[in-house]
Amino acid sequence: MQQNTFTRRQVLAGIGSTLAALSLPDVVVAAGNVHAAAGPEDPLGKYPKPPFKEQSQPWPGLASKMEPQPDHGEKSYKGSGRLAGRKALITGGDSGMGRAAAIAYALEGADVAINYLPAEEADAKEVIALIKAAGCKGVALPGDLREESFCRKLIADAVSALGGLDILVSNAARQQTRASILDVSSEDFDATMKTNIYAPFWLIKAALPHLKPGSVIIGTSSEQAYDPSADLYDYAQTKAATTNFVKSLARQLAPKGIRVNGVAPGPIWTPLQVSGGATMEKLKQFGGNTPMGRPGQPVELASIYVQLAAADASYATGQVYGSSGGAGQP
Ligand code: NAD
Ligand code: MG
Repeated sequence: MQQNTFTRRQVLAGIGSTLAALSLPDVVVAAGNVHAAAGPEDPLGKYPKPPFKEQSQPWPGLASKMEPQPDHGEKSYKGSGRLAGRKALITGGDSGMGRAAAIAYALEGADVAINYLPAEEADAKEVIALIKAAGCKGVALPGDLREESFCRKLIADAVSALGGLDILVSNAARQQTRASILDVSSEDFDATMKTNIYAPFWLIKAALPHLKPGSVIIGTSSEQAYDPSADLYDYAQTKAATTNFVKSLARQLAPKGIRVNGVAPGPIWTPLQVSGGATMEKLKQFGGNTPMGRPGQPVELASIYVQLAAADASYATGQVYGSSGGAGQP
């Protein structure tokens, strides 16, 4: 009869030969479980640097059509149960930072609903499959956030599908480069304000009655809030508004036990940038002017979204966490 007990030496020898047979990403995944030292990782060489290939997609763009493909943590994020039993709604959860947050939340044990535009169904399907593969509930709730009635329905649908809500990540946004204010039409301006300012207002109002103490609201702001580009007149001011509402709502909701924080990314490799968010000239050199000399990948912000949602960050509210490769933050 085979013996079921192993000596420590046998176990370690077994782990050693298993690791030897694995490729590097597998080793990194396995490392957390066996405490095998992966060592420090050089952030400079971790991801692609400019120059990037010319590319453009119609708004809102698909991550699956970008070259190189962004890393949202599909293979690299490793969870440890930090959000077990939590229920999250993430707008713009199909791609970019929202997708990285959705994948990480599921790997941390949360059920996750994502909102996106119907044109992004292909990206969204991949995210839902990844959430389900992590053993969590994944709910797809497509629709246009520029409509107040849809925002209310989105919250109601998320609450009913998840059986409640305690994490709201207001992350969706519209960004379209325009060289001059004279090129920003009233329709452009209206679409940017509706998506980036009105939608969070409508979503948070609808969500609030459902948010119990311990719930969190996270807004995606930007370094544009403090250091606006000349060609992002309308977008940049919406990000200043996001940073501002994070701070005012944090004060308003602290007595209810609800924390409100923000994330302020620098240049991150996402569909928003290749579908009108950046000029072709800027895109080809994207991230090259940061001290790290490269753009960030969505997964590099995933742990920030997790940290701000996790119960052990219980004293953090009204904060905006930057991640911008060393470029200007306040
Ligand atoms: P992204 O294109 O992957 O995500 C933006 C998402 O917004 C889209 O996937 C789409 O689903 C959603 N969206 C846009 N308009 C919508 C509408 N009317 N209705 C419903 N959904 C809509 O790009 P991203 O860069 O990951 O953007 C996520 C957030 O990050 C945004 O708030 C953006 O302002 C912010 N941000 C991005 C960068 C960057 O360099 N990529 C830098 C700073 C801040
Ligand atoms: Mg998208």
